[in-house]
Amino acid sequence: MANNMEYRYLGRSGLKVPVLSLGGWITYGSQVNNDMTFQCMKTAFDLGINMFDTAEVYATGQSEIDMGEAIKRLECKRSDLVITTKLYWGGKGPNDRGLSRKHIIEGLRASLARLQLEYVDVVFAHRPDTDTPMEEIVRAFNWVIDQGYAFYWGSSEWSSQQITEAHMVAQRLNLIGPLCEQPQYNMFHRERFEKEYQPIYKNFGLGTTIWSPLASGILTGKYNNSIPSDSRFAISGNSLMERMRTSLSTDEGVAKLEKVRQLSVIAERLGATPAQLALAWCVKNPNVSTVITGASRPSQIVENVRALQIVPKLTSEVIAEIEAILGN
Ligand code: NDP
Repeated sequence: MANNMEYRYLGRSGLKVPVLSLGGWITYGSQVNNDMTFQCMKTAFDLGINMFDTAEVYATGQSEIDMGEAIKRLECKRSDLVITTKLYWGGKGPNDRGLSRKHIIEGLRASLARLQLEYVDVVFAHRPDTDTPMEEIVRAFNWVIDQGYAFYWGSSEWSSQQITEAHMVAQRLNLIGPLCEQPQYNMFHRERFEKEYQPIYKNFGLGTTIWSPLASGILTGKYNNSIPSDSRFAISGNSLMERMRTSLSTDEGVAKLEKVRQLSVIAERLGATPAQLALAWCVKNPNVSTVITGASRPSQIVENVRALQIVPKLTSEVIAEIEAILGN
C-alpha cells in the first residue's frame, strides 16, 4: 500500500482509519455490478483506502455480498482492512428490525455470513431505537464484541443525548460505550456535527465516520445544469433518489446549485475540482476521523483521493470565502 493516505485514530481508540474511506450505499449491489464493485474497491485499496463501509439494509444485503466477494478478490490480509457494517433494518419480520438483543446478534451473524468474514471491525447501530431499553442495546453490542464478531461499536444518526445515555449506561455496567458516530456531514449539512456533538467529542473521545460528503454528488457540480444519465439521481424506481432529484428544482435546491457554482470558482482557483474542494473541507475538520466517500466508478476515486492535496490550500482566508458562500 504505497500511498500518501493519512490515517487518523478513530476517536479515543488504537484503531487507525484512512481519512477517506469507501461505502456501498446505492452503488454496490445495486447501481453497479459486482465486477465494478471490485474495480472501485481495488482502486481505493491501491490508493490507501483500506476501510469499507456497508449495512445489512443496503440493496437488502446484496451490498454486503458483493463487497464481501470484492474483499476476497483483493487478496490482502484481513488485518490490512477495516470493515464496518450497520444494523437496524434487517428485513420485514417483527424482529428483523431495530436494536433488540435478538436482532443485533442475529443481524450481525447474517451480515458476517453475507460478507464471508469472521468479524467486522466496527458494527454500527444504523439508527436509534427508542423502543428498546438502552441497557439491552449496550449489553448486546458488548456481547457481540466479546464473541469476537466485532471489535468496536458505534451509532449512526443518534442525538448527542442518546450517545451520552449509552455511555452512562455502559459506565454503570462497566461495559464499552459507542466509540464512534456515523452522521451526515457536508457543506450543506453541518448543524449537528459542528454544534450538537461539540461537547461529546472530548467527553467520550467520540470518533466520527461521516457520510454523504458530496451531498450525494450535488457538491461535484454534476447537477448544476441537468441530471447526467449515468448518475445516481437518474436511477429510476428508487424513490429516495427520485425525491432528491425533484428537490433540486425547489427554491432550496436552486439556491444550493447556485452555491455550488460559486464554490466551483474557488475550486478552480485552487487547482481543484468542486468534489475535491468539498472533500478537503470535510477532511480539514479535526473532529472527522474518516470521510466515507461513495463512487460508481474508479475514476471518481482517483479524483477524490487527490482532495488530500487541497487540504493545505484551505487557509483561513479561503475558509472565510467558503463560509460567505454557504451562509449556514
Ligand atoms: P457522496 O455524497 O460522496 O456521494 C457519492 C456519489 O457521488 C457517488 O456514488 C457518485 O454517484 C458521485 N460522485 C462521487 N465522486 C464523484 C466525482 N469525483 N465526480 C462526480 N461524481 C462523483 O457519498 P454517499 O452519499 O454515497 O455516502 C457515502 C457512504 O456513506 C455510503 O456509501 C455509505 O457507506 C455511507 N452512508 C451512511 C448513511 C447512514 O445512515 N449511516 C447514509 C448514507 C450513506 P454517481 O456516479 O451515481 O453520480
